[in-house]
Amino acid sequence: MRVIPPSYEILSELDQQGLAVRIEACGRLCYKSEDKISADSAPPFIRRILKHGHNSVAEMAVVTLKINVDRESDVVQLFAVLPKYLQIDRAEKKTLLVSGSVRAFRELFQGHGNLKIVKGLTHCLAEKHPLFFEDILPKRGLLPQEGILVEKLTLDEVDALPTDLFAKHRYIGVKFIVNRAVTHEMVRHRPCGFLQESQRYCRYSDSKFGNQVTFIKPLFYEEGSAEYKTWEAAMAETERLYIKLLETSSPQAARTVLPNSCKTELIVYANLLQWLHMFKLRTSKGADPSMREVMIPLLEDFKKPFPAVFAHLTPEQ
Ligand SMILES: Cc1cc2nc3c(=O)[nH]c(=O)nc-3n(C[C@H](O)[C@H](O)[C@H](O)COP(=O)(O)OP(=O)(O)OC[C@H]3O[C@@H](n4cnc5c(N)ncnc54)[C@H](O)[C@@H]3O)c2cc1C
Repeated sequence: MRVIPPSYEILSELDQQGLAVRIEACGRLCYKSEDKISADSAPPFIRRILKHGHNSVAEMAVVTLKINVDRESDVVQLFAVLPKYLQIDRAEKKTLLVSGSVRAFRELFQGHGNLKIVKGLTHCLAEKHPLFFEDILPKRGLLPQEGILVEKLTLDEVDALPTDLFAKHRYIGVKFIVNRAVTHEMVRHRPCGFLQESQRYCRYSDSKFGNQVTFIKPLFYEEGSAEYKTWEAAMAETERLYIKLLETSSPQAARTVLPNSCKTELIVYANLLQWLHMFKLRTSKGADPSMREVMIPLLEDFKKPFPAVFAHLTPEQ
């Protein structure tokens, strides 16, 4: 068995990549198949994922659109369908700012593709990113819509928005390597996109996992203490039983003996406003100490690139 400390990585370099590259990079975390990434592996990976309905992978890339709409009735129609997973602001009287993941835009079209404004924005997205819409567009394709002008914003343009809009429309991902109890708490934050290492697919007895189970060092027990030794013995016994079960059953069956201390990788992708909400809850004194262990330093790391949103927040001591 291996024991490692918890850690995290802000995925800012993925912001510089194309949407397909970032979706594949995040999606492969579930299967721990990052070694299969190549120059042309993203399109087939994404087609397969969408076909199988593993749709949360398509939540890992967000697009911001600026939409000029001539007729108010088209705006009203969009608001009337209450697009739950899009951020929509009226930047000016006739201008909407709309941010959403590839998944959110796909499902907006699938559910409300009859609306003129939805046709107009989907046309723009499908022109730029045909891969994400090839399976759901009509064969004849889509035409631009009269009176609806759609422009995709660059990340620099999103970063230049006034703070209130910036906080809602700027998304950032973080990869956590933490124990299973912490990931279980993280995934309670419903507005985020999540992808998690799958214990159903990962077989920790394989050589790519070092033929062993990895556990996260518990912050509660000092190394060498009597409690730490008890914890260590429990993990060693659990690993033995897990590997024994794998001789005759699948990872998804054997995982039923794995404990909260098991190392798990999790990507959390959310806008800055939602991160602010999570920092307030998860750095508070009442939060799980194992959660605070990663969220307090992460908050400090968010203050550097995004001071306007996070600089005022100080964790309770
Ligand atoms: C100290 C602490 C102790 C906790 N203890 C427990 C526990 O014992 N048991 C337990 O089950 N959970 C517990 N939790 C989890 C907690 O109840 C929340 O599920 C979790 O913190 C997610 O935060 P959230 O509900 O504020 O919002 P998020 O899911 O992060 O959502 C963000 C915002 O979206 C809105 N929102 C999202 N979904 C809905 C909805 N369905 N309806 C209305 N508004 C919505 C709300 O405005 C919310 O503030 C605990 C959390 C903390 C911080």
